[in-house]
Amino acid sequence: MSFSVKSPLLFCLGLMLGLGQPHVYATTIAPPPLRLDGPAQQGGYVLGWAPPGTVRLTLDGTDVRLAPDGRFALGFGRDQPATALLTAVLADGRSVQQTVQIAPRQWPIENLPTLPRFAQPSAEFLARRAPELQQIEAARKIASPSTGWRQNFMWPARGRISGVFGSQRIYAGEPGVPHNGVDVAGGMGGQVVAPADGVVILAAQSPFTLEGHLLMIDHGMGLNSAFLHLSRIDVTLGDVVRQGQPLGTIGMTGRATGPHLHWGMRWNETRIDPALLAGPMPRGAP
Ligand SMILES: [Zn+2]
Repeated sequence: MSFSVKSPLLFCLGLMLGLGQPHVYATTIAPPPLRLDGPAQQGGYVLGWAPPGTVRLTLDGTDVRLAPDGRFALGFGRDQPATALLTAVLADGRSVQQTVQIAPRQWPIENLPTLPRFAQPSAEFLARRAPELQQIEAARKIASPSTGWRQNFMWPARGRISGVFGSQRIYAGEPGVPHNGVDVAGGMGGQVVAPADGVVILAAQSPFTLEGHLLMIDHGMGLNSAFLHLSRIDVTLGDVVRQGQPLGTIGMTGRATGPHLHWGMRWNETRIDPALLAGPMPRGAP
């Protein structure tokens, strides 16, 4: 990682004097650097600290929310390029920049010779689907004051990981949508708990066509979790939940070929890999 400090005033003065390079002003007191808690990788999520006095933080030009204490979070997508530019603008007009290196990952790709069945959705399906998508979009717009985004996440269910984030099937040369979460084959009726603190932003008591009984939890700061195919949901919209609190049970409602928990996570519009937040799956029963 590298960072640079720019003072607009001194830099312009340098140009006028024909000096050109900001590093001439090595005697200028530099603001503290931007700090990330750990390395960044595709699908990953990392917390950081902005320098005191930061009034605006951007990642590749897009605003990043900043907590009052200077804490912030970043998420990186499956196909995130190798670098991203993080910029903090300070109250005195100076800015601090840091180039974040994002480690690439290998994604499992499976080539299948034929197109999937039921590739064309019916008009009846689309008519049922539209209001479901509207509910999901509305839920994502809810910005709760939860501080779960700062926590170390835990697995919401235990069991064999039957599907990983980022895997992709290619049907007769046509790439399918990459798997956007992690699947835990925990067994029908197995308990699902909150992986971190949050607020319930959607609890589908009548099953959605694809997701079945869908539960969405906002962890604050643009970070949220979605739990799909539940057999039962035990919380309701607006509930404040604590890490480890039971939320419902594993099922196979919606489009699922067997009982499993699909856990998807987003940081703002970016889909991230929940397995990276939860770490290795613990052995044994919860
Ligand atoms: Zn899945």
